[in-house]
Amino acid sequence: MIIRDDNFKPYPLLRTHHRVMHVLRLPPQKILLPLIAVALALFIAFWTPWFLIAALSGIALQYLIEYLIHRFLYHMAPPDQVNGLFKWLYSSHWGHHDFPNNPNLWGGTDRWFVPIISSIFFLLISGLLALFGNDTPFLLAFIAVYLGAIPTYITYEWAHVTAHAAGQKNWLERYITKEHAYHHFQDFSTNYHVNAGGIVVDKAFGTAFDRDTYNRPDNIRTMGLAPDDPRLIELRDLYANDYGISKSDRAKALS
Ligand SMILES: [Zn+2]
Ligand SMILES: [Zn+2]
Repeated sequence: MIIRDDNFKPYPLLRTHHRVMHVLRLPPQKILLPLIAVALALFIAFWTPWFLIAALSGIALQYLIEYLIHRFLYHMAPPDQVNGLFKWLYSSHWGHHDFPNNPNLWGGTDRWFVPIISSIFFLLISGLLALFGNDTPFLLAFIAVYLGAIPTYITYEWAHVTAHAAGQKNWLERYITKEHAYHHFQDFSTNYHVNAGGIVVDKAFGTAFDRDTYNRPDNIRTMGLAPDDPRLIELRDLYANDYGISKSDRAKALS
C-alpha cells in the first residue's frame, strides 16, 4: 500500500532545475534531506578516511538495490488475482509501464517507503560492522546509508523524472532518457537501471539493452499481459481517481 501525500503537486518539469526542485520537494525528502545534513555534519566533525570508503560503499550498494528492486520485485510475475500484492505492484510500477506519461505514476510520492527501507539497512549494516568488531558501527553505517545510498537514491528519482519529462535536456539527461526508453518501449527485460552509470550493473547481470540482439516482446506496455486483461482493467479503474487516469486514457490502454 502506497502512502500518498495528497498535498503533493507535480512541479513544471521543463528544465533541469525544475526537475531538481521537483525531486527535492517529493514527500520522502522531508525526512531524508535532514538525515543527509546530519550525516554530512558527522562526516566533517569526526572525519577519518573510513568515512569516504563508507560513503562510496553506500553509493555502490544503492546502485545494486535500485537494480534488484526493479528487476526482481517490481517485475515479478503478477498474481492470478487482483490481491494486495498486485495492487501494490500496479501502483508501484505496473501502472507506470501502463501509463508512462502520467507523472502521478512516476513514483517517489510514497513518504515512508524509502525512510523505512533505509533505516532497516542502517540497522543491518551497523549489526554487520559490530559483528566484525568495528568500534564505530553506527557512525559508519549512518554515513554509508545517508551520505552514500540516500543521495544516490535522490539522483535516481531525478534521473527517472528526467527520463519521462518532456522539455530541454543536456547531453547527460538525453543519455538517461534514451537508456530508460529502451526499458519501456523496446524490451522491458533489459536496462533495469535508471541512474546515470547504472548500465554497469545491467552489464554485470547480463541485462544491458543491446540494439543488435534484443527481441521486442509482445504487449510491451503491459509487460506481456494482454492490454485488456481483466486484472489490468480492474486495477486501472481502481486507481483512476488516485492517479488521475482519465476515461479516455483507460480506453486507449485497452488496445
Ligand atoms: Zn520497469
Ligand atoms: Zn520509467
